[in-house]
Amino acid sequence: MRQTPLLGYAMARAPQCPGAAAGTMFDYIIVGAGSAGCVLANRLSANRNHRVLLLEAGPRDWHPFIHMPAGISKLVARKGVNWNYNTEPEPALDGRSLWWPRGKVLGGSSSINAMCYIRGHRRDYDDWAAEGNAGWDFDSMLPYFRRSEHNERGPDAFHGSGGHLNVADLRYSNPLSKQFIEAAVESGFPRNGDFNDADMEGFGYYQVTQKNGQRWSTAAGFLNAARERTNLKIVTRAMVDRVQIENGRAVAVEYRVKGQRQRAEAAREVILCGGAINSPQLLMLSGIGPADHLRQHGIEVRHAAAGVGQNLHDHLDSCTVYRCTQPITYDRISEVLTGLRYFLFRQGPGTSNVAEAGGFARSALATDERPDLQFHFVPAILDDHGRRRVPGDGMTLHACHLQPRSRGHLELASADPDAPARIFANYLSDTEDLDRRVLVEAVRTSRRIFNARAFDAFRGVELFPGDNDDSDAAITAFLRRKCETVYHPVGTCRMGTDAKAVVDPTLRVNGIIGLRVVDASIMPKIVSGNTNAPTIAIAEKACDLILGTAQ
Ligand SMILES: Cc1cc2nc3c(=O)[nH]c(=O)nc-3n(C[C@H](O)[C@H](O)[C@H](O)COP(=O)(O)OP(=O)(O)OC[C@H]3O[C@@H](n4cnc5c(N)ncnc54)[C@H](O)[C@@H]3O)c2cc1C
Repeated sequence: MRQTPLLGYAMARAPQCPGAAAGTMFDYIIVGAGSAGCVLANRLSANRNHRVLLLEAGPRDWHPFIHMPAGISKLVARKGVNWNYNTEPEPALDGRSLWWPRGKVLGGSSSINAMCYIRGHRRDYDDWAAEGNAGWDFDSMLPYFRRSEHNERGPDAFHGSGGHLNVADLRYSNPLSKQFIEAAVESGFPRNGDFNDADMEGFGYYQVTQKNGQRWSTAAGFLNAARERTNLKIVTRAMVDRVQIENGRAVAVEYRVKGQRQRAEAAREVILCGGAINSPQLLMLSGIGPADHLRQHGIEVRHAAAGVGQNLHDHLDSCTVYRCTQPITYDRISEVLTGLRYFLFRQGPGTSNVAEAGGFARSALATDERPDLQFHFVPAILDDHGRRRVPGDGMTLHACHLQPRSRGHLELASADPDAPARIFANYLSDTEDLDRRVLVEAVRTSRRIFNARAFDAFRGVELFPGDNDDSDAAITAFLRRKCETVYHPVGTCRMGTDAKAVVDPTLRVNGIIGLRVVDASIMPKIVSGNTNAPTIAIAEKACDLILGTAQ
């Protein structure tokens, strides 16, 4: 099993705060070794003259369930590698507090995600550019997707070869995933063998970020390739508390390792890659954010920035679940045999990302040429992210709305960096009520697919919603009772050129010198699909912007 080794020497040698002794000055300090942070660590340290420090709050990625793809079902709830956030009670979801897992480990969320490799729709990026973010249109982003990628199918106009991110076809898939694709085609949807070429619409198998049957996180792909460099220092279990701002410039970061306070200085830049929850939290803890809110928590305002923590949005997801009449689901798989086959041969169900097949479709409510629905099919019963076990065999169809209009925000709970930010996701709150109506259609479409002939030999009773009531009112009640995140929060350090934008189109924090944010939080609007590959492409572009090599 391949693991990312720890360059742990850094912990022992890091000096104490407040003095900046020799060895604590770096050119670039990267906060967070997630999807974006690992890309930056690799690219920026490629020039041996750059001293690069990468600080990660979580541990190294040693756990076997990180590397074994099907381990995701065991991994998501593990405390040690997950920030385990919970939203505030959601007004439109029966006052429920939703669980938001986020990776806290080398690789960040790319070490705990479902590995589906999706870029989104061309229009997503063209819209970012049309809003003033020059250079972020799809044609400008495609070279970054291709640069990061090694697609095992080989290169073409859309796909890259030789990049650090291995993209593969699944080695194993459950027979029900095939039936699902047939059922979708029978229901009138096109078949699609590649969601990441010119046309993303249709149904098929996902390509996955895996290599040799193992998860290929950004730690495995980008960090492993750079770990021998002496100019790159990686410190795990290093919790960054604050960026120090002096005279409008980011000069240093303060962090803790094993309770010891440390400080490192940045000669060039501090780059926040903490993800959509932690990056805005860290900006606020550093005095950059809505002024009244910071003062309320006794934080000195370094730069009033009303947009920090605003524009939070996510893909809200419904799970339609049917029982399966045949004992072929992942609900009753032999863990011992699966484990043996995986560890000995890197074959079998252990290599499955579980969400093997899916698709993109336009509902009758779609507002433009983009699909507004995404589906992930899981050959098992999923309830509460798989945390609640339901006995027996079943199959689940996730469906989410790809262009949500509802917006939430984040607040500090306190000035204590260890206190999780308060998350107000504000799902289903858009004034047009479009988000709810699209999800109602998503449940209807899910039922239609489950009731296609291809499932006749497998379909049992409907578990969720489970009432055979197709009315708007009944489906809406189900959505309020059961909807969950499909794990794609973005937008909280929005890129733009208006007064409320947090970063400019070069990802520099407005009003501060030497500070950038590079992660999923900079997306002005969420992409129409999963967010890992887009975040990696954002980081690839950021490297060019930082190094002055952008086209
Ligand atoms: C369960 C799950 C399933 C998903 N499935 C898919 C999928 O199949 N396909 C897909 O494309 N996307 C998927 N996603 C989403 C995707 O993985 C994320 O959007 C993406 O990884 C976000 O990248 P990021 O760089 O913004 O943040 P992250 O990858 O979350 O990285 C942030 C890193 O910063 C660290 N950090 C934060 N604060 C601090 C601090 N103060 N000090 C030091 N370190 C800090 C964190 O520990 C973390 O390692 C999934 C996500 C989850 C959680």
